Amino acid sequence: MSINVALDGPSGAGKSTIAKTVAAKLGFVYVDTGALYRSIAYYAITRGADVNDGAQVAAVLDGLAVRLTYIEGAQAVLVNGENVSDKIRTPEISMAASAVSKYPEVRAFLLDTQRSIAAENDIIMDGRDIGTVVLPNAQVKVFLTASAEERANRRYKELSEKGDPSTYEEVLADINQRDYNDTHREIAPLKQAEDATLVDSTSMTIEQAADEIVRLVNAVREQPDGSKKKSELKCSDRHKPVMEVRPITKTHKINPIRQGFYNVVRPFVRFIFKHFFELSYEGVENVPTDGGNIFASNHRSYGDPVFIALMTRVPISYMAKEELFKQNIFFTLLIKAWGAFPVVRGTGDTAVIDTSIEKLESGRNLVIFPEGTRSKDGKVGKGKTGVALIAAVAQTKVVPVGINFEGEKLCRKKKVVVRYGKPIDPAELGTTDASPKNLKILKKEIMNSITELVH
Ligand code: C5P
Repeated sequence: MSINVALDGPSGAGKSTIAKTVAAKLGFVYVDTGALYRSIAYYAITRGADVNDGAQVAAVLDGLAVRLTYIEGAQAVLVNGENVSDKIRTPEISMAASAVSKYPEVRAFLLDTQRSIAAENDIIMDGRDIGTVVLPNAQVKVFLTASAEERANRRYKELSEKGDPSTYEEVLADINQRDYNDTHREIAPLKQAEDATLVDSTSMTIEQAADEIVRLVNAVREQPDGSKKKSELKCSDRHKPVMEVRPITKTHKINPIRQGFYNVVRPFVRFIFKHFFELSYEGVENVPTDGGNIFASNHRSYGDPVFIALMTRVPISYMAKEELFKQNIFFTLLIKAWGAFPVVRGTGDTAVIDTSIEKLESGRNLVIFPEGTRSKDGKVGKGKTGVALIAAVAQTKVVPVGINFEGEKLCRKKKVVVRYGKPIDPAELGTTDASPKNLKILKKEIMNSITELVH
């Protein structure tokens, strides 16, 4: 039975130095999870992605394999086989790691890697959410902290020794910024687990803090039934939600003025679209008559939100790139009137999820294109987890949609077939919370259903 020690705390509290000391004293494996977030930031930057854009970061994860290995006892992190252990220790990567760590896709991506190491070894794992999310059943949990000034002082010395030119003031500002980011993000924020022991290292030596942790581990070892079984650990971890469920209530009715406007505009737009394209619909009986549902579709053209909405009785909302709102005023007004809301770069996916749930709450239907970008060849690409996350958190139905036309471009007189599939109900699927396991099930079901409708 392996012993797991979860060591959380803010940047620069001395976690890695203390954890290495504890690991050496106890013969445990030390797992530095910050290195995993750093390696994603490093990879995103080398691939030219903007780390403040969740969609861009999520998009690069597909081609990424992160692995931890141990070379002469020291942890090394491999990004697609390349040892990046030294390259990820710059102030630029520190800030970028803090930025990418707020995206649900990134956190879900790393969860299994962290848990499988812990399931197989006696480990001390440091990070921000180890005791609260990654290893909620760890036998020993420590929350290690120190004053911001003391932490900045330590980090400044460490960087100067490596020849980094950053000043103390810059290091302190970075620490304060990362503390703010880590404690304010919505998913897995930095916080002390209820059953963690608080260790304030401000006026402690490394040796004293390490001995305190060794003492806690030995106390667990001495209790015959003190350590939790591995099977318990694995089972509950797979079910740990990434985000709390907030089922939407479907009692809200759309604002009557907006609904009235939609009732007038929709037949008019339908008339234009039917004449402009050779447009036909299949599976219309699958379109719910109420609002508060998600429509998840493949993405072929800018016309997609209109094609989808023409058969829905209540107005839709849909996410659109912020850049689209900066084109001409007429276009901006048009897409806004049709329900577009901007996905603002830098606010992270959690803000988008909140806005999406607000839209559903307001009685609208929400149109999402899980592939993120438009497909030129008509093939359905890989879906992102966002749609499953919104459906699981809001516990609302997802109507799969397939938009079909031949060729790359949508042009006049083109034959367009829009197919609606049977709604997917998270409750019927048994996916009643937003655990990684459930998100995987929901995403698979949604993407398979869309794929079946595209032919
Ligand atoms: O610990 P380290 O400074 O290397 O971590 C880099 C960044 O990765 C942190 O600022 C934090 O935002 C993120 N991180 C995290 N969860 C962890 C470990 C690190 O969000 N478990």
